[in-house]
Amino acid sequence: MLTKKPPALQSFLSLVSRRASHLARQRYDVIVVGGGHAGTEAAAAAARVGAKTLMVSQKIQTIGALSCNPSLGGVGKGQLVKEVDALDGLCGRAGDYAGIHFSILNRSKGPAVWGPRAQLDRQRYREFIQSELLSTPGLTVLEGSVEELLVSDPNPEESGQHRVTGIRLANEVHPISAASVVLTTGTFLSGSLFMGQTESPGGRIGDAPSSPGLSQTLRETLGLRVGRLRTGTPPRIVKESVDFSLAKIHPPDSHPTPFSFLNTRTHCKSEEQLPCYLTYTTPGVERVVRESLHLNCHIQQDTKGPRYCPSIESRVLRFPGRQHQVWLEPEGVTSDLLYPQGLSMTMPPDVQLRLIREIPALHRAEIHTPGYGVQYDFVCPTQLSPALQVKSTQGLFLAGQINGTTGYEEAAAQGLWAGVNAARLALSMPTVALSRTESYIGVLIDDLVSRGVTEPYRMFTSRAEYRTSLRPDNADLRLTLKGFEEVGCVSSSRYQEAVRVRDRLQDALTALQALALSTRNWRKRLPDVGMSEAKNTMLTGMEVLQYNDVSFETLASAFPEILSPHVEFSQRLKIEAVYRPHCHLQKKEIERIQKEENMSLPQDIDYFSLSVSLSQEVREILDKVRPTTLGAATRLQGITPAAIVHLFNYVRHTGQKGKRALRHKNNQMELYLQADRTFLRQDSRPVRLGPKVHGDDIRSSETPQDSVDLGPELRAVPGFRAKQHAGKREMTDGSFN
Ligand SMILES: Cc1cc2nc3c(=O)[nH]c(=O)nc-3n(C[C@H](O)[C@H](O)[C@H](O)COP(=O)(O)OP(=O)(O)OC[C@H]3O[C@@H](n4cnc5c(N)ncnc54)[C@H](O)[C@@H]3O)c2cc1C
Repeated sequence: MLTKKPPALQSFLSLVSRRASHLARQRYDVIVVGGGHAGTEAAAAAARVGAKTLMVSQKIQTIGALSCNPSLGGVGKGQLVKEVDALDGLCGRAGDYAGIHFSILNRSKGPAVWGPRAQLDRQRYREFIQSELLSTPGLTVLEGSVEELLVSDPNPEESGQHRVTGIRLANEVHPISAASVVLTTGTFLSGSLFMGQTESPGGRIGDAPSSPGLSQTLRETLGLRVGRLRTGTPPRIVKESVDFSLAKIHPPDSHPTPFSFLNTRTHCKSEEQLPCYLTYTTPGVERVVRESLHLNCHIQQDTKGPRYCPSIESRVLRFPGRQHQVWLEPEGVTSDLLYPQGLSMTMPPDVQLRLIREIPALHRAEIHTPGYGVQYDFVCPTQLSPALQVKSTQGLFLAGQINGTTGYEEAAAQGLWAGVNAARLALSMPTVALSRTESYIGVLIDDLVSRGVTEPYRMFTSRAEYRTSLRPDNADLRLTLKGFEEVGCVSSSRYQEAVRVRDRLQDALTALQALALSTRNWRKRLPDVGMSEAKNTMLTGMEVLQYNDVSFETLASAFPEILSPHVEFSQRLKIEAVYRPHCHLQKKEIERIQKEENMSLPQDIDYFSLSVSLSQEVREILDKVRPTTLGAATRLQGITPAAIVHLFNYVRHTGQKGKRALRHKNNQMELYLQADRTFLRQDSRPVRLGPKVHGDDIRSSETPQDSVDLGPELRAVPGFRAKQHAGKREMTDGSFN
């Protein structure tokens, strides 16, 4: 898979149909609008499920383009990449092919919150994605701009006020019909670009915005609530104009770790990897920002920008007098450009040049392309179901930045899931949801559809309550088997491999459990391991593997006849042993919560006339969001534990007509307490996480929320104490896309 040479762009273009007219008489199962990170995963996933799929994107050349930083993964985001890969998506393998600098962020913390990340070669990434689409059976790619959605009356047997039946392209008379449509238009919906005092229409530099007709269909015909967000990108700097002697080199990991479960190595060899560099802003940078505020219309807008990768203007205005990190990152193996992570800016180009030259390593730097800002429409995601289908509109799915998220990984994860469900709906199969107890994708979608967004949403490990179970190392066991057996988006060859891994891991765990010796005998076999001499109890191999200084290889060399057949999985076994006791307890809790979580709330409830004790405010929230499950209701802001108890009782009561749902008062009190605990647990996500770096906001790009404390259970685990490594990349991850 990794060694497959992607076809030249030209051959991709020639194989793609560029004329829409002959497609008009065709009927597709699924049409995907957009060829960014959400669109490519959606199209590929829909085709894998078996749907006849059409992907329409404005420009063939930009399919799979990395709009901003050429990087993939990071803390929380790396987990999403692993999960997309486990469900047979594209981005993990594309990252392994295009990566030029691999590192695991957060390595000083437990493996559950490690963040696999790679700096990418832009061109290689795009080529790989295009090559994959080209070889996906059942998928047609078309260059064109979608002007409007075809909307008709709903199917009366299903819920919804409208039905989407296809698309109409700009400059084409004939529509193209489909059972499901997935919209993944990114930053292009009513997009405006900002640089200095200039505002121009656009979705990304060099690309026109989505046609106004599309926004209009969403707002006016379908009546969807639409909001406005903004983001920005830094100037690209000519590499040879940088004085690297004034920056600190940041080497990659000596052994690159692939994202994909299918790959044992990356395309780029260890020694071929390129370094990144770290430098800092100076007081001169702040002075230039302040002096040019009147020339910078993007920064004067009210629209919400990304909290976790703010512009340099926002950073210096919010935290005056501080030094801010700037990472100088390569754009590709043969690229002459550098991406200055942390210097997103929207002032006029001449001021941008003045600003960057205030940084010592950039004192004679040249700008190749100036930075700019973009404002765009997003659809409030509480209007979506957990399948990412618009609740009020049959056949319409939304994924990616259009749902208020930011980042490639968030877009890819949603795209895959929307593509799966669009295909299942078209093929008359029930749509499916992922729970937050089984995946980060479930957490992401649940956060979006039940809480909505007020600013661009990015993933963090701290958003996942069950992060010790949802680890990057076990995404295949969590999702590949389900993806094949229940969802239908995983190939049989990947499934066979996941089954082999599961069985081999199980054999190894059984062997470790069966290896039971007294501590005296363990000390004889492992004289270098610090085991207490005071006690003489029986310990299994599994328990000994939990010791800080015991690796699986150590055990295998002591018991080669039993354990050496399993060394292939040394690291996975070590991680499994360390987390097992905690995960065991967590599994029980998950099972209990799942029962409550999955309790369906009827979609036709009239919350205003419901004869239970709910405040007007709670009724309004429930009516507006219409959560599909009790679990989703517990996470809504403004919903009290008492309201959850009343809802729980109401649903149970109406579900058991004729029976007495509430037996006696004690029972009710117990339910109250249970829901209260659930609610508090769900809502009490840690806020203060990680130390301050350079005094910034604890949730800013320089101090990610992911400097998370794993709690007493894992702090007690030897080898998994959180250490602080000042200046290390793991402290700055929040800003990476
Ligand atoms: C200037 C800029 C700065 C950014 N900065 C950051 C950042 O700092 N941090 C971060 O995490 N993320 C950032 N991003 C966002 C990141 O690029 C996105 O999160 C990610 O690309 C979203 O993926 P997507 O698939 O939703 O949309 P995109 O990758 O934007 O893809 C949208 C696709 O839809 C196509 N399209 C749009 N309208 C139509 C239509 N009507 N018909 C046919 N095709 C259409 C486009 O051609 C494009 O292929 C930035 C993006 C931009 C543009």
